[in-house]
Amino acid sequence: MTLDTPTKEILARIDGEAMLEQVLDWAAVNSGTANLAGLATMAEKLGAAFATLPGEVELVEPAAVTAIAADGSEFAKPHGHHMVLRVRPEAARRVVLTGHMDTVFPVDHGFQSVAWLDDETINGPGTADMKGGLCVLLHALQAFEQSAGAEQLGYDVMINSDEETGSLASRGLIEELAQGKYAALTYEPSALPDGTLAHARGGTGNYSITVRGRSAHAGRNPQDGRNAIVAASDLVLRVAALAGEDITVNPAKIEGGAANNVVPDLAILRFNIRPKTTQAMERFDGELDAVLRAVEAEHEVSTSRHGGVTRPPKPVDARAQKLFDLVRSCGAQLGREIGWQPTGGVCDGNNIAACGVPVVDTMGVRGGKIHSPEEFMIVPSLVERAALSALVLERLAAGDPLADAVSAGDRS
Ligand SMILES: [Zn+2]
Repeated sequence: MTLDTPTKEILARIDGEAMLEQVLDWAAVNSGTANLAGLATMAEKLGAAFATLPGEVELVEPAAVTAIAADGSEFAKPHGHHMVLRVRPEAARRVVLTGHMDTVFPVDHGFQSVAWLDDETINGPGTADMKGGLCVLLHALQAFEQSAGAEQLGYDVMINSDEETGSLASRGLIEELAQGKYAALTYEPSALPDGTLAHARGGTGNYSITVRGRSAHAGRNPQDGRNAIVAASDLVLRVAALAGEDITVNPAKIEGGAANNVVPDLAILRFNIRPKTTQAMERFDGELDAVLRAVEAEHEVSTSRHGGVTRPPKPVDARAQKLFDLVRSCGAQLGREIGWQPTGGVCDGNNIAACGVPVVDTMGVRGGKIHSPEEFMIVPSLVERAALSALVLERLAAGDPLADAVSAGDRS
């Protein structure tokens, strides 16, 4: 197909070889979410790379995060710094662009290096999810900055260090940066290798419930004990019964207990929920409280809950749909047909959507088999997706492409 002049101009500004070199360099750094040294190296590399754009690069302290240990105690979980770049904060129309520098592969994992699968495909940790996506974001912005209308659009870039474990240390930062933004783009890889985008997403939440009873001798005075394992077992059944059409509940682990001759005074139940709708998420919260009170009364134990929903469900409203339509129309300019489909996966797009900001969260590379040693990235998609984003940014700078959706939404 023949490309139009603006598309050709954008493509001419993007250097595919430089992009590939950058992805290979970044993929060589292990940045598993718990590898603070690796994350610091990545943050430094990203800071230098994004400093080529206007605006100030800043490294932001992670928020304090705690977890519950097997002995019931609460402990602090350290995280890496997040990178933020603010460009033209005074602009009337501003967007937020997000990605993550962490990967699911710990420093001692067997999958640490990049290999070529064929002329167009590399296999490597974090290449698709999402060091390739970060590279797409950077080069899209560099190309966009050379556009005549760039001055009209301000943007904040946020690259967090803890997306793969639920963004607990960056949630507040994401919410702060989403405030007042016209739209958001997130650089997760496409839902399918052909470039299909992820559309609506369900949500997810993780809970640890600590049950404390009273210990006693199993033979001498069992009547004085309050068995935490029995109470936790009752709790498992009650929590599992809260599952329904619009929410799944997965009791995953019970820890605690004691020796065979002791009534156990401690149990910890861990479970995950996947609400499909905001209503299901809110209803579950109330129902869980009621279940905990019932178990406390029935077994004379105390309970405490830790955790909750970290990724609210992401429905696609009329305005968000307009953003999908815009991405599709820019894809057509590049000669690519871009579709979308709902997914059970979650990402920072969930949290951005919960702030009322329209978001397309799979603007990164085409690739697949993420979170596995078969993870792959399709190399030509680097340039293609950078051009796609640059075109979308140009359209966001030039006009008000999400405008009619507001009245359409109001009417319905
Ligand atoms: Zn990701």
